Amino acid sequence: MSDRIVVTGGAGYIGSHVCVELLSRGASLLVIDNFANSHPEAVTRIQEIANADVVLLERDMADPAHKTDIVKAVKDFRPDGGIHLAGLKAVGESVAEPARYYSVNIGSALTLIEALEAANARTIVFSSSATVYGEDNANPVDEAGATAPTNPYGRTKYFIEDMIKDIARSDDKWRAVNLRYFNPVGAHPSGKIGEDPNGLPNNLFPFIAQVAVGRREKLSVFGNDYPTSDGTGIRDYIHVSDLARGHAAALSYLHQQETGCAIDVNLGTGVGYSVLEAVAAFKRASNRDIPYEIVPRRDGDIAEIYANASLAQKLFNWRAEKSLKEMCADHWRWQSQNPDGYTD
Ligand code: UDP
Repeated sequence: MSDRIVVTGGAGYIGSHVCVELLSRGASLLVIDNFANSHPEAVTRIQEIANADVVLLERDMADPAHKTDIVKAVKDFRPDGGIHLAGLKAVGESVAEPARYYSVNIGSALTLIEALEAANARTIVFSSSATVYGEDNANPVDEAGATAPTNPYGRTKYFIEDMIKDIARSDDKWRAVNLRYFNPVGAHPSGKIGEDPNGLPNNLFPFIAQVAVGRREKLSVFGNDYPTSDGTGIRDYIHVSDLARGHAAALSYLHQQETGCAIDVNLGTGVGYSVLEAVAAFKRASNRDIPYEIVPRRDGDIAEIYANASLAQKLFNWRAEKSLKEMCADHWRWQSQNPDGYTD
């Protein structure tokens, strides 16, 4: 792959794995990140793993004062396209501060779109989320499923998807894929990069990992009275390296398209696991105890969702390959080698 790709949010959890994947395929990267929820050390480690350098621009995609710099840097880089991952992602915070979420997430996407236009490189892969689906869909959920996000974070993802479709409709030079991620977990098998949440983790796997390593006393399991096999919520966990390969596959697909397009594509495994199944798998992989207590349901959570990932297979010739066991083993390797994350 001789592509030149702009990766916004390239130092983050998913972004860092996407960068390693693209670099290992021979791509050249311009990484734009403001390290608001990521660490410069991640960029160092990306380069170590891939044995290749990236061009790094430390700027805020949502700050109007940085826009001129960003557009110029993107133009100068002469990219073939961009992958947009920069943004805020905490559901609870988005309920408390919706205006900031709309401003940062939508503003960042618009800045990349403007920069890619200026660089005459109208190819974009957007980091969307299964959170755009409502709770009324039968599982497995395909891309035609009803969209009804239940919080401001999810709505920013949904609005950006629609915005990208409007832009593609207005100009058939645009080629776009909105990747609807299910639940990314795990880490690069080297243990050098992984998820490093700020403060109390919101998501299940980083929480379990911090309990296993002794940073937290116990996990709270949000509800065991759902209509599922063991009463706990069911999700489609996908290894972050599989997810990263999905981005490379989406880019290759877009480069082959002769006309404009904007499509939504699920990235998941197609298999759902309950919270208690995930805890048991992590316990086996880490050989550590994972104490937990059952607490009331978390607001906005749904009982069960897992993907129909056949469109990604059909269009991109991509499918998830790594098992829950590998997700847990790799997540644990990262957590145990970096108990305090990148700040260690
Ligand atoms: N969950 C839990 N305890 C936690 C975090 C999550 O029981 O500390 C459950 C949550 O209710 C859901 C599943 O784990 O059923 C996955 O939650 P996560 O926040 O990781 O992803 P979501 O699917 O909500 O985006």
